[in-house]
Amino acid sequence: MNIGVIGTGYVGLVTGACFAEVGMSVLCADVDHTKVSQLKSGVMPIYEPGLGELVRKNMDIGRLGFTSDLREMIRIADVIFIAVGTPQNRDGSADVSNILDVSRIIGKEMKREKVVVTKSTVPVGTSEKIRETIESLSEFKVHVCSNPEFLREGSAISDFMSPDRVILGVDSKYAESCLKDLYRSFMKNTEAILVMDLASAEMTKYAANAMLATRISFINSIAAFCKIKNANIQMVRKGIGSDHRIGQDYLNPGVGYGGSCFSKDMKALIKMMSDLDLNPSILLAVQELNEDQKTILFQEVIGRFGNDLTGKKIAIWGLSFKPDTDDMREAPSVATIEALLEHGASVSAHDPRAIKEANRRFGTRISLCEDQYEVLNDASALVVHTEWDCYRHPDFQTVKSNMREAVIIDGRNLYNSTRLVSQGFEYYSLVSPQTEE
Ligand code: NAD
Repeated sequence: MNIGVIGTGYVGLVTGACFAEVGMSVLCADVDHTKVSQLKSGVMPIYEPGLGELVRKNMDIGRLGFTSDLREMIRIADVIFIAVGTPQNRDGSADVSNILDVSRIIGKEMKREKVVVTKSTVPVGTSEKIRETIESLSEFKVHVCSNPEFLREGSAISDFMSPDRVILGVDSKYAESCLKDLYRSFMKNTEAILVMDLASAEMTKYAANAMLATRISFINSIAAFCKIKNANIQMVRKGIGSDHRIGQDYLNPGVGYGGSCFSKDMKALIKMMSDLDLNPSILLAVQELNEDQKTILFQEVIGRFGNDLTGKKIAIWGLSFKPDTDDMREAPSVATIEALLEHGASVSAHDPRAIKEANRRFGTRISLCEDQYEVLNDASALVVHTEWDCYRHPDFQTVKSNMREAVIIDGRNLYNSTRLVSQGFEYYSLVSPQTEE
């Protein structure tokens, strides 16, 4: 079976590479010519662990290719996955214009029966719009499917190769058996392939992201309470998480969620609910709490140094919204940096992978450093934003000797306060120091 993938971003590229890895012949198409020519020469436009090796290996054996000619891809493919961006409109709704653009091209170019599968996150009802668009332009049969993606950046390949479950929204038995065949290679347990109607599949993605975002805002609220009352949030987390109805995941207190999906999808769901006169207050509260949470490290900085940060240099460790990715979309670090600059501080930052993206966003407004210790030179505080492994066990002597003032503000609760205080640091984290394990 020939597979086509439209969009070679975080989702499309991983999808294409993983299908090729299990033996399929895959052609990926993108309108971004620069990206396509980079990919053709084996250069990854994004950082995702293991992705470069997987792409190059499958290109070498001729199972994976790239093109900027969508028409070529549509002619060849039996099954077409759409993985283009669905960004946010001004009113919070999801912009599906990329989806409809490619549907029009598919409709015009398809010369035989096709299965068209949406991997992008799209509002409920979009699959029907895709069908209408294609059918209005083509005399050939199209099977429209919704197959939302649940991979996490940083572990995208293993998430794709060993998914907890695969959601298939289908409109025909043919599409169902076709997609089941494709996914069987990844699934030990085919019961984990959940087949449903199109609207339910589309909604499953929004409901999943809303639930995960809610857990994060929930635990951050509980953590704030625990810190003031000297309760140990880590013990509370274990205590509630060992109840199987609750579980341990997505209950780590931190600096709020970021990334391209949670915030965008929450806003789209809020808009969809409001349009139906349904009350989205639970989602609004989650969003509002998260926006507040993103400022928490900045609040710690001004709590320590006051509102006027002129003449102070603040160093940041970690810019990406989570470790093992270069993605800074909606990253809490961006909110911290903007607030620091606004209050007169100068900012220096290090990240193992996101320096290029940070340079694109901030240019000369901040200084970026390839060395995690050099970035601390003359700094009055170190703010730890992202829990990359290289920050977990640093050489604290070097940290201290490089800094002007030995102040660490830790947004990921990585260090032991007793040890740091004994080494002469002032240490602030999101947990109460009296309750550390
Ligand atoms: P991305 O921005 O990294 O990639 C999108 C790609 O689509 C870009 O390369 C862009 O050039 C291409 N594109 C846009 N319009 C096109 C067109 N008309 N024709 C061909 N190519 C086009 O986006 P992403 O992070 O991969 O997300 C894609 C979709 O998947 C979104 O709907 C997102 O919400 C969803 N999603 C993302 C993740 C994630 O972790 N990033 C996880 C699950 C679902």
